[in-house]
Amino acid sequence: MSVNSQLLRKLPKVDELLRNPQLVSLSCQHAVLTESVREVIESLRQQILAGEEPSVEPQDICEQVTLTVKQKTTMNLRPVINATGIVLHTNLGRAKLSTAAVQAIQSVAQDYNTLEYNLSKGSRGSRYSHVESIITKLTGAEDAMVVNNNAAAVMLVLSTMAKGKEVVTSRGELVEIGGAFRVPEIMEQSGGTLVEVGTTNKTHLRDYENAITENTGAFLKVHTSNFKIMGFCEEVSLDEMVHLGHEHNIPVIYDLGSGAMIRLEEYGIADEPNVLDAMKSGADVISFSGDKLMGGPQAGIIIGKREYIEAMKKNPLTRAFRIDKLTLAALEATLREYLDPEEVFKNNPTLRMITATMDTLVPKGERLLECLNAVCDGSYSAYLTEDFGQVGGGSVPTQMIRSAVVAVNPAFVSLDVLEKRLRSASPLPIIARISKDRLLLDVRTIDEHHFESVAQSIKACCQK
Ligand SMILES: *Cc1c(COP(=O)(O)O)cnc(C)c1O
Repeated sequence: MSVNSQLLRKLPKVDELLRNPQLVSLSCQHAVLTESVREVIESLRQQILAGEEPSVEPQDICEQVTLTVKQKTTMNLRPVINATGIVLHTNLGRAKLSTAAVQAIQSVAQDYNTLEYNLSKGSRGSRYSHVESIITKLTGAEDAMVVNNNAAAVMLVLSTMAKGKEVVTSRGELVEIGGAFRVPEIMEQSGGTLVEVGTTNKTHLRDYENAITENTGAFLKVHTSNFKIMGFCEEVSLDEMVHLGHEHNIPVIYDLGSGAMIRLEEYGIADEPNVLDAMKSGADVISFSGDKLMGGPQAGIIIGKREYIEAMKKNPLTRAFRIDKLTLAALEATLREYLDPEEVFKNNPTLRMITATMDTLVPKGERLLECLNAVCDGSYSAYLTEDFGQVGGGSVPTQMIRSAVVAVNPAFVSLDVLEKRLRSASPLPIIARISKDRLLLDVRTIDEHHFESVAQSIKACCQK
């Protein structure tokens, strides 16, 4: 016990530490510094009382305080390096924005803007007008509107078109997406009555036909974004549904989900429906996300017949689901890039990454390997190989996309330790995965200007 009380007495006072030159030189709010100093001293006191013998040297305490201050002043929401190869990584923010979209956010955020102001009339304008005409031009739709995300879009569509009515949907399309979006629950919330038809694996046109009553409000088709049924299965195409619906004066709603604005088959991404084909089929209303295959900000985009869109704008839910000015700025900039179908592949990070082929990925991998070899001190070895990534974001669930990866084998630490250390790497945390006793860095999703930083972090995290 005597050792303990001796150590306790040696613990410096808060005021004393606050005068320490190393801590004085930290650039942070005084309150944060004081709080950190108190926490560190209190933690040491508890350790001593518990019979431990921590160092109470001012130098060591200052190190701890510096670390605590750093933790307290680092943003919780911050950028990371995505080395997983999953382009639309839901947990890592889904789509990255183009430079133009980022600039648009900044300029609208810094100044007053035309959010709801019509410059030529000098009076109140519409928040939706900024993107409406671009969306209708790109898609050929009669009208368009945007809300906070696609879940809100589906809710708004159903609440406007099917409240108090029956909505006929295939049992094979009652999907759950991202845990909280479940078609039957959204239907219930919207006030529509779900009429399930067909079976999990097979739904026929006659199933829809037999379900029609005088209270049928709509047919709903939902893209089964995040899963695929194989084998003995059959679904009714959007074309057929539209044909049947229109014979009976029943509008057809299509929740397209991933929202590719371009046919991606040519780029090796098969089986993913796109907005253009959906429009061609004549569906009355189509909704999709802004931050999946479109590669823009989080948003729900609704396109279709004017009478329905007009009614949605008057729905009180629209106010609750409305899109904010920063998102709108990014969305307009993203959409404008689609007006030039060639340029968009260079500017839109999502399109650029998902369409990257081995022709560009292998040399990119070689450059990352060079950076790693250039700083290597023997604490790891690395080599270039191939692996498979994913589009992600609940898109193209069955297709793996071939990619170039740099495999890292640490010499002194385990793969688990390396992976964990990389998650708190500085300046940017690195999210990587372990496969077959190697740590893999998929270059598809790593920006080239981060290569040197990745190499430095790998080296730092491989130390004993
Ligand atoms: C992703 C998705 C949603 C939800 O869209 P969010 O933009 O994430 O709200 C709804 N329906 C389908 C079919 C989807 O793929």
